[in-house]
Amino acid sequence: MTHAGGLVRLGALATLPLAFGACQYIPEMPSFGAAPQGICAGSGLTVDIDFSAAGRHDCIIGPDGSIVVSVDHEPAYVEGINPSPWFAFRVTTEAPRAATITLDYTDYTHRYAPYVSTDGRNWRKLAESQVTLNEKKSRVTLKLDLAAGPTWIAGQPISSANDNLDWTRGALAGLGFTEMKYGESLEGRPLVGFVGPGSLEAIVVLTRQHPPETSGQEAYRGFVERLLKRSDDLGSTFRNRYRIIIAPMPNPDGVDEGNWRLNAGGIDLNRDWGQFSQPETRTLSQWIVAAAGGRRVVSMMDFHSTDKTVIYAPPLDAASPTISFLPFLKQTFDSKLSAPPEWSYNHNPNGGTSKGWALEALKAPGITVELWDQIPTADARKLGATAADALIEYFSK
Ligand SMILES: [Zn+2]
Repeated sequence: MTHAGGLVRLGALATLPLAFGACQYIPEMPSFGAAPQGICAGSGLTVDIDFSAAGRHDCIIGPDGSIVVSVDHEPAYVEGINPSPWFAFRVTTEAPRAATITLDYTDYTHRYAPYVSTDGRNWRKLAESQVTLNEKKSRVTLKLDLAAGPTWIAGQPISSANDNLDWTRGALAGLGFTEMKYGESLEGRPLVGFVGPGSLEAIVVLTRQHPPETSGQEAYRGFVERLLKRSDDLGSTFRNRYRIIIAPMPNPDGVDEGNWRLNAGGIDLNRDWGQFSQPETRTLSQWIVAAAGGRRVVSMMDFHSTDKTVIYAPPLDAASPTISFLPFLKQTFDSKLSAPPEWSYNHNPNGGTSKGWALEALKAPGITVELWDQIPTADARKLGATAADALIEYFSK
């Protein structure tokens, strides 16, 4: 027991590099600083999930060196998780080799086209010829050549909670925005938002309530960039007049834990904007109201992803003084995009969506902007930028 206790204490010291000038002790420690042990290893391969936004996986390596990875979802408070089978894991090989990797979804089916990366930052999509599904689509086999070292394999290019916060910070730098910690997630991660300097009225922008929905995040980035950087008079009029309220990462636990849909409490946050049973939705809704500070909110845009590009909007006779922005937005999409989105109009005051809450609480058209999972990044950004142009042109005149 004494021996084990000593190991633990020295291990803690080893995580404080150079702080004690006691480096001579560290080489005696077994395996500290080595590659992660992984969730399975064999035949010169190691599979691990030791990074933010990694999926919830187990795995085996067969006698022939083929890898089978199970794809599981987070605990759900109620039955009926949305089928967004997220995967993200890393395979490390000692020497270059051909690999066969099977994803086993058990009761779910393959949705996200695999992307691979050798640095965790630059990604390429696997060719269709490298991806084989079984008849039920419940197992998919990937054939690829691994370089020596690590290869990340994921359902979309990985974007951790900090990634979109950092992107947003960079985009807003020098433009007079205030960064605020408006709350803490269930697991204690900071909930961070940004408030612009505009004075008279307000708009609200959200994304990533649902962890894997990164094509929606690309549209959000196109939207924010155009809103901030459009350089004509209408652009500056808009920014002076409208207070831009941005929540880039309302579900950091779900994103960093590799959840398919839910927060760490097993709740779909975009069904909780009525009960507000979770700290993420409770603090976000309170912060939006406080940040608007009594100003009229003209729109609330919430960017997501699904199996097609579609806009969910309230009915055109909904009780909002700015509801006529919707036909202008549709007309702008239809005239400027080669593949304009479908539209679906409805309002359910008890649905618990941000969209429904925006209409009920703010009298603002809440707009859920859904991007196709596989939309090229440039097209997602263009849709977001076009939505920003519509907003600027409609509300600055
Ligand atoms: Zn979603």
